[in-house]
Amino acid sequence: MAQEDPKAAYERLRAAHLHDVRAALTDHVARLAWPRERIDHYRTERLRSLLGFARERSAFHAARIGDVDPATATVDGLARLPMMVKQDVNAEWDRIVTVPGIDRAGAERVLAEESWFSYTPSGLQVFSSGGSSGVRGVYVWDREQFVTLACLAWRWQTRAEHLASAADGHRQARLAVLEAGEPPHASTPLFDIATLPGMVTFVIPAAAPFDEVLRAVAEVRPTHLVGYASVVGRLARAVVAGALDLRPVRVSTNSEPLGEEDRDAIDTAWGVPVHNLWGSTEIGVQAVGCGQGEGLHICEDEVILERVDASGRPVAPGEPAVRTLATGLAGRAFPFIRYDLGDEVTLLPGRCECGSAMRRVADIAGRRDDDFRYGEQVVPAAAFRHVLGTDPRISEYQVRQTTAGAEVLVVGTPDVGDVLTELGVSLRPYGIPAAAITVHAVEEIPRTAATGKLRRFVPRQR
Ligand SMILES: [Zn+2]
Repeated sequence: MAQEDPKAAYERLRAAHLHDVRAALTDHVARLAWPRERIDHYRTERLRSLLGFARERSAFHAARIGDVDPATATVDGLARLPMMVKQDVNAEWDRIVTVPGIDRAGAERVLAEESWFSYTPSGLQVFSSGGSSGVRGVYVWDREQFVTLACLAWRWQTRAEHLASAADGHRQARLAVLEAGEPPHASTPLFDIATLPGMVTFVIPAAAPFDEVLRAVAEVRPTHLVGYASVVGRLARAVVAGALDLRPVRVSTNSEPLGEEDRDAIDTAWGVPVHNLWGSTEIGVQAVGCGQGEGLHICEDEVILERVDASGRPVAPGEPAVRTLATGLAGRAFPFIRYDLGDEVTLLPGRCECGSAMRRVADIAGRRDDDFRYGEQVVPAAAFRHVLGTDPRISEYQVRQTTAGAEVLVVGTPDVGDVLTELGVSLRPYGIPAAAITVHAVEEIPRTAATGKLRRFVPRQR
């Protein structure tokens, strides 16, 4: 038999998978209107199911669950279990995975041998992410998990589109997908999904030179955008600057924190609903913006978030937390239970104007490691962002920490002397003199190889 084209085989399996996603979306959209008690009840049942399954099939989790009885476990009682960190994942991979026939070496082999996205014979998808901490992770998602995660990623938009299309009739929807665009990152399979009848999708690799991204977007003329926050933000700035004619009706951002400068540019350029998504390769999707109210709705039916202190004990909603732990209720192949996400979240009080009872977190500002440390002195990323993110002539930037200051790369047409002066003023309170800062105009800022993400802040390696 002739060698099968791996792309064609993948697309056939994926097409079947996407029908499952669209079928399940109806249920997921309905959940957004669930009353509080129903969310709580569902979540408890899902937690008991996950703990029971993990105890049976994962030696790692069996030891941790110990004498906690899955049949009577509660969300509040979850704090009795130890937390799980990235080092556990790498050191204990083979004892965590619950699917027979695959181990870390086998998952690595799938990644090494695949020339395109693929499914294993048992239907798993294997992904990897560079990780901003520099530790590479390998993850497996089973079929049902992918369906759930895709629904979490798209249900808010789907709900809003149903309401909108009832008002103004169906239009030919075209979705531009500005994600990694290739294996091994999970972003493309998760976001390249046509959720509306007749919707067509176009994948445009986010890490391509921006000229190419701009050209491709202009050609596609999308009605909907989904992509890395920094790339969508930069497209918005191009529209404001008159370099691009683009009028999407809905925008979805993910993979990077949606910074103020990008959100402002998107609002100025289009003034349309923005659905920001906070996710991770480990859990998948943790929270998504509804496009109406402030912040992001936690996916409370499928994810349990705990704000905890340094030792893993939950803290009250108003108190500062040191870590955010997540339990992914849909993750059976490789369970993450009380997993340290490394992000800080703030709970928003009250019910959202959209009416959903799903609780909200404030926009995720970014990781703690965005701040630069010089000995005892901490310089917040905001001190740079305040200058670099608000100059309309800067379309992209990167700040690299040096021994005593920073090297700043800017793309666009800023007055480098002015930028330097303003940075000097902004950083002086933190003890960084203007002389310790350099600013260079460059054509392009390289993106992280494994994920295609942009690192705006690069701390000095110690
Ligand atoms: Zn809402």
